[in-house]
Amino acid sequence: MADGHYLVLARKWRPQAFDKVIGQEHVTRTLQNAIRAGRVGHAFLFIGSRGIGKTTTARILAKALNCAAVDGPTPEPCGVCDNCVSIAAGNNIDVIEIDGASNNSVEDVRQIRENIRMVPSSARYKIYVIDEVHQLTPAAFNALLKTLEEPPAHAIFILATTEAHKIPATIISRCQRYDFRRVGLDGLVVLLREILETEGVSCSDEALHAISRAADGGVRDAESILDQLISYCGDSITFQDVFDVLGLVDWSVLHQLCDAIHDKDIGALLTMVEQVVVSGKDLGQFVDEILRYYRNLLVCKTAAPTELLALPDEEVTEMTRRSELFTLTELIRLVEAFAELSQGFDTQLAQRTALEALLIQISKRSVEVSVDTILEKLMAMSESGLLPVKEATTPPRAVQGGAPPIAEAPPAVKKAPVVKKAPVAPPPSPRKNPNPGAAPPKKQASAPRRQRGQEEEVRVAPTSTVNESDEKQALEDPHVAKVVDVFKGRIVDVRRDVDTTEDT
Ligand SMILES: [Zn+2]
Repeated sequence: MADGHYLVLARKWRPQAFDKVIGQEHVTRTLQNAIRAGRVGHAFLFIGSRGIGKTTTARILAKALNCAAVDGPTPEPCGVCDNCVSIAAGNNIDVIEIDGASNNSVEDVRQIRENIRMVPSSARYKIYVIDEVHQLTPAAFNALLKTLEEPPAHAIFILATTEAHKIPATIISRCQRYDFRRVGLDGLVVLLREILETEGVSCSDEALHAISRAADGGVRDAESILDQLISYCGDSITFQDVFDVLGLVDWSVLHQLCDAIHDKDIGALLTMVEQVVVSGKDLGQFVDEILRYYRNLLVCKTAAPTELLALPDEEVTEMTRRSELFTLTELIRLVEAFAELSQGFDTQLAQRTALEALLIQISKRSVEVSVDTILEKLMAMSESGLLPVKEATTPPRAVQGGAPPIAEAPPAVKKAPVVKKAPVAPPPSPRKNPNPGAAPPKKQASAPRRQRGQEEEVRVAPTSTVNESDEKQALEDPHVAKVVDVFKGRIVDVRRDVDTTEDT
């Protein structure tokens, strides 16, 4: 840096040997074994998202095949011979790196076919690394296929792509295929810590985790973020610095958002979205941060180990306190809803969080009666006359509960029956529904009306499946009692109401 020439970390720290490539051991070990066994094919296909080591591994493979320090391909290239040095620098005459995006025509591929016939000038193999190979035109793929079918003995192709589904099957079948993975959080943290120590930069664990999370499994992204932070902060990086540099939304905003969701304060919520847009922040990233926030609340709520949060201690306390504002079911719904919204961005975070929410829901099923089960039971009871109902005189209205709009419409009852006289049913609860025919409190009515799902019919369980002791048991269940209340209020959205009556 002193001489004014700063080598970015991604280049400075580019791994030079197979065992230095982090997170891709399944690829590098297989490649090394293939070289050891002398089973090196003429075409390799490297698949995986950007910035996780495909080009790096391609260069190491090229060195392994062409290292001049040994007589043949080696799983451990020396790194110091002319070939190794020039391949690492990207200027070896026999290792040609081509950007498939800008050289995608049939003419470009014909040129490659012309050149590949010539024997390598200084190395064992003539190696073509074609990055973003999925960008080739169909005609170019055809031309490439001809070469792959009858390659000269000295020719090796390493094709790399982020989008394997765009590669013709005929090409894939001619290649040894290697799938690169995103790197786990721990792997990134270990790498970043090593870089920071070597660079003489101090960084809190929270900041380190925040960088790793933001990189979302990408080594190059993690290193670029670190570059930015080092030029912004110098030799000491704090958690707040990471937030500033990454343009993340401040935690206080997420806390406010959480409060507004809990208070059903639509005005505040819309104002917050407006502020995020006006401040130029990316909405997709904002959704991801909300998702991460609620995921953290969920972790707090389930009393899972707080290491899973990767947050400073004072934030853990704050998050735990806020997790008490919601029921577990509400948090699961919120996480699911934001995960679905975020899925359009196809982030690993969205997938992971949706999975976590599902798993928590599944593990909860044994201790809590599912609302669908209650509904089925209730409908069966009404069929058997245990819960007398009559047709609603007015069309049922979809009434949003207290929860925020949720993308997935839960099953809804089309015709909400009204309890007329129920000799066996529990006495009506006046506290919750003083006026059975009236709409619920106005605060709820101000929420947006549901658009989808209103027309769905509820499946009615056959009467014969309900026996008397079951019925009695069901009516004693507090969940069922709530649903009965809901039926009397002619609230269509039974599922949501069961969740939200708890915090009234
Ligand atoms: Zn060498």
